[in-house]
Amino acid sequence: MATGVALILTLLVLAWGVTLQRLEAEKTLVNQNARIQQENLATIISENLAQVLDRGRLMSIAANEWFEGDRMAATNRLSAMRTADRAYLRVALYDSAMRRVYTSSPATDTPELRESLRLALSATPAEKPGGPSVGPRPESHEQAWQLPLLFPVSSHNGRPDGILLVILDLGYFLSLYQHIDIGRSGIIQVMKSDGEVVAQARQEGLVLSGQKSLTPLPLNGASRGSLNGAFFEPGRAYRTSFRQLEHHPFIITVSRDIEETLAEHIGSHSRFLSILAVLTAIIALATFWFARSLHRQGRLLSALATADDEKRELILQLEEEKQRAFKLAAHDHLTGLPNRRMFHELVVSHLSRAKRSRKHYALMYVDLDRFKGINDSLGHHVGDLLLQTVSDRLRSCLRESDVIARLGGDEFGLLLTGLESVDDTASIAAKIVDQVSRLCSNLDGNDIQVTPSIGIALFPRDGHDFDTLCRHADAAMYQSKRSGRGKYTFYDPGLNTASDRLLNLEQRLPKAIADNELTLHFQPKVRLSDYRIVGFEALVRWEHPEFGLIYPNDFIPLAEHAGFIIELGDWVAHACCQQLAEWQAEGLEIVPIACNVSAKQLQDKELPRRIAGFLGACGVNARHLEVEITENSLIESIEIATQVLGDLEALGIRIALDDFGNGFSNLAYIRTLPIHCLKIDRAFISDIRNSHDDAVIVASIITLAHNLHMKVIAEGIEMIDQLVHLKTAGCDEAQGYYFSRPVPADAARKLLICSLLGPV
Ligand code: C2E
Ligand code: MG
Ligand code: MG
Repeated sequence: MATGVALILTLLVLAWGVTLQRLEAEKTLVNQNARIQQENLATIISENLAQVLDRGRLMSIAANEWFEGDRMAATNRLSAMRTADRAYLRVALYDSAMRRVYTSSPATDTPELRESLRLALSATPAEKPGGPSVGPRPESHEQAWQLPLLFPVSSHNGRPDGILLVILDLGYFLSLYQHIDIGRSGIIQVMKSDGEVVAQARQEGLVLSGQKSLTPLPLNGASRGSLNGAFFEPGRAYRTSFRQLEHHPFIITVSRDIEETLAEHIGSHSRFLSILAVLTAIIALATFWFARSLHRQGRLLSALATADDEKRELILQLEEEKQRAFKLAAHDHLTGLPNRRMFHELVVSHLSRAKRSRKHYALMYVDLDRFKGINDSLGHHVGDLLLQTVSDRLRSCLRESDVIARLGGDEFGLLLTGLESVDDTASIAAKIVDQVSRLCSNLDGNDIQVTPSIGIALFPRDGHDFDTLCRHADAAMYQSKRSGRGKYTFYDPGLNTASDRLLNLEQRLPKAIADNELTLHFQPKVRLSDYRIVGFEALVRWEHPEFGLIYPNDFIPLAEHAGFIIELGDWVAHACCQQLAEWQAEGLEIVPIACNVSAKQLQDKELPRRIAGFLGACGVNARHLEVEITENSLIESIEIATQVLGDLEALGIRIALDDFGNGFSNLAYIRTLPIHCLKIDRAFISDIRNSHDDAVIVASIITLAHNLHMKVIAEGIEMIDQLVHLKTAGCDEAQGYYFSRPVPADAARKLLICSLLGPV
């Protein structure tokens, strides 16, 4: 940009330089022309005056005849010549005795004239000038233009025989040039050789010497040329061109004010300069404007570039933030390993690929033996350090392509991928046992040794899906524990591990209720129109002192089998009412809690009465309690079940049909029951994205339920795609890990306060 501006400025300076130079050259030319014109004019006038004076000289030659004897002829010739020449007013001839022998018109000779005559007659040829001498001019104003010229009439002895007086009409002569265009300041002068100005002509008129002060010109003896100076008016420079007449004592000058000769040039000069100045101003302004807008544009561009950079940086930051958030959500913060949810996703994705490969996959459950004791005795801090050490060791035993996750507490999940043979699994498991069992030194000053119990389920031998493999790996892991810990065990359907464990559980169950080892977890139900929490499902857990948290699928069938289900069901219903009462007392806006009721409970006619008792005791309105029954529970003694359901409805309790689609789906029959809500089994939901059949079934269940004026709730929502499908199909509510896992009462309370569980 700066180069452009500099270039324009240089061009401007150049333009000015060239213009001024050209104007100067033009001025010189104008001056030169004016001088030549003046000199030419001076030449012409001097030539003319010389001719006039020559005619006077001719008369003097004619007058010579008078002295040679032919007086008559001379007189006639003189009269004729005078008459023909308008420049001469009068002609008179004097003899050597100064007698006037001829005159063209009568006039009196003044003493001054007579004196001039005498001087002219007495002058020797050496003193005599080359032409006539100038006589005294008349004093009267009218005759002031008359210039007496005295021509000697030649004689043989050198002295003049007589003098011819001719009166030159200077006014007439000069008036011929008065109208020549030599400008307003132009002056034509007739001077005597001694520099005395005789007369001059200007545009405004003729001036006689003596009438106006005329400065003599410093001709310095030159006979022709030009000179400059303030000759006529002070402060004004004149150029004067002069010519000395060759045979006569006169000089002609033509003068003109130099400025006037240059006036036209000066006019065009200043016009030209003004135009150039305006152009310069315009170009300078345009350049300034252009430079400024370029500058602004530059600033704008750099601002845009900065904004762009900032935006890019922000996007990067957001991207990093997203990655970090994703990592946090999917990873266990203590060990940095994927969490259970991530493990599920990773394993499912590996298994979907595994189905197309011939390789073996092994899912391992690794549980640390007696970790709880270490944690309790040495503190959580040491327990955490131990978990970190173990997770590092586990990782070191695996390949890059394998999956490792912390499933919770002291439990790790591993997926060995793409194995060539089952033996490879055994050697890796042995390596893990060896590595993990090594002493962990200096964990906050403690040296600890811990052994792992490993359960292994092989794909596809022991199961085709994640849930089955997990279940079997878990069972194998318990077998490891049972058989002495610090071992690995492959799942074997022949092993009676599960039933052993179940027996153990079944025996402990009555004590569990009495010892308060049962607890409720709550899973929110979300309304799909606004993602508000509109209810919870209560799911019972057993906090087993030895096996840890046990899930209902593992002990509800035992409870049913052992006849404890009524007692357990009552505990759950009562616990739900207590929880509602507690939240209510806290001033929370409570939502209904649903408890699961098994088939045996539905055969208990007293159930509604007892539930009414719990509600009453806790001060909870029946509309805040819901009951979930399964299709299968309706198979047995339908009459009693119908009566129990009718009584529950009469209390104001709403009833949902759980795991719908799985059992004997006779909607025609179901419509006769007091059922308010259908819960679509999660088996249909899990594959709703890929299975066209499932999608159709779900859509038709929703339509049918709506036709029967029932609400529809989908369970087992794990992914947003499933949610989108269900929302599009018109499902009313949803429940699943996507929104929240079943959580303890404290966490459920927080969810209730927040109330919103929108898609993330
Ligand atoms: P359910 O009534 O169908 O409960 C839903 C089960 O699905 C729960 O398992 C819950 O944890 C699980 N679940 C919820 N969302 C998801 C999800 O997104 N993905 C997957 N894969 N699972 C999800 P849970 O707690 O193990 O309960 C299992 C079953 O045990 C229940 O099935 C219910 O039939 C029974 N049950 C639970 N609590 C009680 C109870 O207090 N009394 C009776 N009689 N049965 C109960
Ligand atoms: Mg349920
Ligand atoms: Mg269910």
